[in-house]
Amino acid sequence: MAREVPQAGGPARDIRRLPKAHLHLHFTGSMRPSTLLELADKHGVHLPEALTSGEPPQLRATDERGWFRFQRLYDIARSCLRTPEDIQRLVREAAEEDAADGSGWLEIQVDPTSYAPRLGGLIPTLEIILDAVHSASRDTGVGMAVVVAANRMKHPLDARTLARLAVRYADRGVVGFGLSNDERRGLARDFDRAFAIAREGGLLAAPHGGELAGPASVRDCLDDLHAERVGHGVRAAEDPRLLRRLADSGVTCEVCPASNVALGVYDKPEDVPLRTLYEAGVPMALGADDPLLFGSRLAAQYEIARGVHAFTDVELADLARQSVRASRAPEELRANMLSGIDAWAS
Ligand SMILES: [Zn+2]
Repeated sequence: MAREVPQAGGPARDIRRLPKAHLHLHFTGSMRPSTLLELADKHGVHLPEALTSGEPPQLRATDERGWFRFQRLYDIARSCLRTPEDIQRLVREAAEEDAADGSGWLEIQVDPTSYAPRLGGLIPTLEIILDAVHSASRDTGVGMAVVVAANRMKHPLDARTLARLAVRYADRGVVGFGLSNDERRGLARDFDRAFAIAREGGLLAAPHGGELAGPASVRDCLDDLHAERVGHGVRAAEDPRLLRRLADSGVTCEVCPASNVALGVYDKPEDVPLRTLYEAGVPMALGADDPLLFGSRLAAQYEIARGVHAFTDVELADLARQSVRASRAPEELRANMLSGIDAWAS
């Protein structure tokens, strides 16, 4: 691979101008901290200091208590999204932030169940979200779609209901089906029917795995859920055979370096195995996961690859291409983004 990219002397290329697809961003987690403060004020929600200090909260999710604390903060933030206007604002701002970071395509991940009680039920909630996505995409120029994600802490029958709902909206902006929350709880296999419904309905299977749990959780995503992408997947780096399998089958890992460090999956940015995955040929799509709680957005993840892991511009362009190829962006947009990436790197 050519690596003789000119950087010495000239200014570094602006990573924000590198076209990319953003495939791992959670709904509430995408919120601007300033918006959270305003919405909490509007709805009279008392926020804990961890969400008001202006600094990302100290988190550690490597044990269940730490994960519970993370989920508690997430739940409080989510409770500030109560009206269709709140949803529209959240989605518009997520798209604006992505546009500023060079994202041409954003797949935002949401479990509509959590918002449904305040928005009139599951179907109205998903419709409000899809309408918001449509408007935000039109207004910002960022292509957008939705990944409906089930919660693995809930009953597998709930996941099936969500999968059927997601399939019903496959031609209105839902492109994938995910599975989130604590990988250490329950088995991926319990959700195999839900994922079968989603896949048969034409949706991409993109469960979380290989974040809080090790390589076995990634294998479960592949074997039991036929994942085409894996949320995180970084712990696959502990198993060379699994890395080969991911590379051979072209399954993309949605790697979120800042999130991994914020949650204590790795102690330091340099410990995130970006190089290991990249050199093994595992496709990656860098993502921000929950900027609200981790303090950084999409372009910052590419800055970590450059600044901490010494990715050259040729390699950063390669990462961006991988993100586009793993996306469900329409063909014309993919082609545009890929040629934009070539132009950035040339
Ligand atoms: Zn995630």
